[in-house]
Amino acid sequence: MAAHDPVEQKYVYDFAEGNKDLKDLLGGKGANLAEMTNLGLPVPPGFTITTEACKAYLTTGREPDGLAAQIEAHLESLEREMGRRLGDPDDPLLVSVRSGAKFSMPGMMETVLNVGLNDRSVIGLSNQAGGNDRFAWDSYRRLIQMFGKTVCEVPGEEFEHALDEIKSAKGTHNDLDLDADDLRGLVDAYKKIFAKHTGREFPQEPREQLDLAIRAVFDSWNAERAILYRRQERIPADLGTAVNVVTMVFGNLGPDSGTGVAFTRDPGSGAQGIYGDYLANAQGEDVVAGIRNTVPLQELEQLDKTSYDQLLGIMARLEEHYKDLCDIEFTIERGKLWMLQTRVGKRTAAAAFVIAGQLVDEGLIDLDEALHRVNGAQLAQLMFPRFQLDHEFEAVAKGIGASPGAASGKVVFTSARAVELAAEGESVILVRRETNPDDLNGMIAAQGILTSRGGKTSHAAVVARGMGKTCVSGADELDVNVPAKRFTVGDHVVNEGDVVSIDGTTGKVYLGEVPVMPSEVVQYFEGELDPENTDDALVRSVHRIMTHADAARRLRVRTNADTGADAARARRFGAEGIGLCRTEHMFLGDRRELVERLILASGDKEREDALAALLPLQRADFIEIFREMDGLPVTVRLIDPPLHEFLPPLEQLAVNVAVAQERGEDVAKEEALLAAVRRMHEENPMLGLRGVRLGLVIPGLFAMQVRAIAEAAVAVVRDGGTACPEIMVPLVGAVQELETVRTEAERIIAEVVGDSGVEVLIGTMIEVPRAALTAGQIAEAAEFFSFGTNDLTQMGWGFSRDDVEGAFFWRYLELGIFGISPFESIDTDGVGRLVRIAAEEGRAARPGLKLGVCGEHGGDPDSVHFFHEVGLDYVSCSPFRVPVARLEAGRAAITTTGSDSR
Ligand code: PEP
Ligand code: MG
Repeated sequence: MAAHDPVEQKYVYDFAEGNKDLKDLLGGKGANLAEMTNLGLPVPPGFTITTEACKAYLTTGREPDGLAAQIEAHLESLEREMGRRLGDPDDPLLVSVRSGAKFSMPGMMETVLNVGLNDRSVIGLSNQAGGNDRFAWDSYRRLIQMFGKTVCEVPGEEFEHALDEIKSAKGTHNDLDLDADDLRGLVDAYKKIFAKHTGREFPQEPREQLDLAIRAVFDSWNAERAILYRRQERIPADLGTAVNVVTMVFGNLGPDSGTGVAFTRDPGSGAQGIYGDYLANAQGEDVVAGIRNTVPLQELEQLDKTSYDQLLGIMARLEEHYKDLCDIEFTIERGKLWMLQTRVGKRTAAAAFVIAGQLVDEGLIDLDEALHRVNGAQLAQLMFPRFQLDHEFEAVAKGIGASPGAASGKVVFTSARAVELAAEGESVILVRRETNPDDLNGMIAAQGILTSRGGKTSHAAVVARGMGKTCVSGADELDVNVPAKRFTVGDHVVNEGDVVSIDGTTGKVYLGEVPVMPSEVVQYFEGELDPENTDDALVRSVHRIMTHADAARRLRVRTNADTGADAARARRFGAEGIGLCRTEHMFLGDRRELVERLILASGDKEREDALAALLPLQRADFIEIFREMDGLPVTVRLIDPPLHEFLPPLEQLAVNVAVAQERGEDVAKEEALLAAVRRMHEENPMLGLRGVRLGLVIPGLFAMQVRAIAEAAVAVVRDGGTACPEIMVPLVGAVQELETVRTEAERIIAEVVGDSGVEVLIGTMIEVPRAALTAGQIAEAAEFFSFGTNDLTQMGWGFSRDDVEGAFFWRYLELGIFGISPFESIDTDGVGRLVRIAAEEGRAARPGLKLGVCGEHGGDPDSVHFFHEVGLDYVSCSPFRVPVARLEAGRAAITTTGSDSR
């Protein structure tokens, strides 16, 4: 074989051969052990078997050719270096066999310590340890226990049971009270357990121990818990694990030995200073098992000042080298310090910002790198008020965390009651099976919204996110009974007025009031905290990084807002315009009656009267918004939803009519409404009479809106302000639709604006796949495109956005058909391709065509990177996501310009 394959694949690397950038091949642990070795730090010598070897083993079920010989060669050189041989009865070398994948999977895979011990070398180990029999037999029993459990699947309880028996015979609970004889007896007992379960004696041949342990680590990549962990953390299933074979060092050789873990800064707050724990006379697994209490690392200074000082020096060196927070594991063996692991440490969202700022101050990284090291998900986390869960609160249900935050309040079941109680100064949680546009006032009044149905793009979820209001949707353990004003969950009955707390990040529902803390980061964005003048390190760092992101980004960030208040807040949060002002909310409440008149109009005159009555109301809405956004562009979308959404539900009307008829009341109006609702019923309203189709079918409807927009702009300008309206036509699929609307709109605009200087752009949403595919034609009639990625996803996939997330997405996620809901993060391959085609063909037909996105994806971190890459001009998102989009747009810009140093 070798003749045909002269270059044999290299499966084994000495620590001196690797480096930190080889994580794919050597796993995180192996790559960093190599890096530390090359830095000259005290790492116990060893070697790493590559992930390639693991992958080959997992595909073929056997070790790849050449692996055994390479292990042999590296073992021999390790033996030479250490001056000891594996299993030597007089002076044995012992090794640990440790897993280590590219991404850390803590505790998910296997480790075997003390490989190389057998009935003879245990005596040699005792001699090495200065006649410490107890230590040698303890090490041997640990090997049989770990090897039995992880390599041969012997039930761990049996070993624990045997240990407990010996302890109780001795009348103690403490392992340390067992002497060498006890442990020798325990080894015998363990060997019997091993033989009983495996049908063979515990292997005495060290090389066999080593090979079986390596195989067990390979196999542990596919252990059930590892598979589950990977799925949860979205770690690819085909990476495989490396295996590290490391010379054993012992922290359990007496009081001058010990083991510890440490962080170079506080991973919770980011504060500078050493954070760690130390346990004298112990091995790493004792720390993890919590057998004895650790002491703060600082106490090591008293116990062993030389090692302590050396450790601090190494930690400073590692930070300087990795230019980041590092976490480490170390062991001290009789006063000699050994580094067993390091990696860039995990941290909280707050610590990520604080540390990035500190490292810039310390000159270790530049601002680009600081920006690269934080992300929008972390920023979003920092913006929500949060529960202080220091007391034990138990969740009674778990739904979908639809709009993050923490809210407590009295349960109400109707919008009207929410408004009433809120007016009395109460905090309320609006509980519904699902919400509809009629609940808007209640949602505004409520502290939070809880529904038992619907997913992340349900009405409740989308509207709540838009308002930055906490929402848990689809908590299907709740049985909501609106007429009875109560819900039940498990054995609990919750009545109107009872207090509940909901966590919109985790989706958890609690009974009673869980205390809430406000977010200082939001106070900063609101302008209530001066970043130059605060001792809050987090706020200072967020400000600095946001400023850099704003300077770096190419994408502009607008907001989706339909009220003056939302517009004002978004502006404080940094929005540079409104990318989507939905006008349908302007037809609700008191105005519903006018919409009913419009729908029921029996002739031109009645319809025109209804529209004429709506006109000044719409105009006033737009004036308020234009004033708030003074000088910034405002994209107003003409009315989009099917008109029957503004009428009462069919069943309710039918009951009203029947009851009124029974009572002999005049029901002419209700009957007319009922007839209209029946006439307008659609099987698939999302694909029915909505968007531009309404404008083409109902004479005067769009014209009224266009006039209101133009008149509002003129009014603002006459008052000395500036208005930059952009009129957007929804649901266009063919250029002819847009042309028809455009011709009429241009005529009205020309008539209204006269010489006022107001300029009005006319453009379209791209949210129907056909529009994306004919974008070249549509661009002829549009000055801008705004991608409505909610509908584009709905129609691109054929997924009803109101139903599917709760119905079956869980299964799709489980099967890996998608990694994340395509309503949350843009499906770059499919829906994203439509966006790309439309952007390219639109710009080819009309250079300078303005391109934006206003679907929910505009505020999603990954999607923002995609829109940057496609070359859009702006993203538009709900006010609370504006800072997230600014940050991610900055990150996208530095990533693609190549200034990213990692
Ligand atoms: C969209 O479809 O992405 C969009 C912004 O419009 P709406 O969500 O109002 O349908
Ligand atoms: Mg839409």
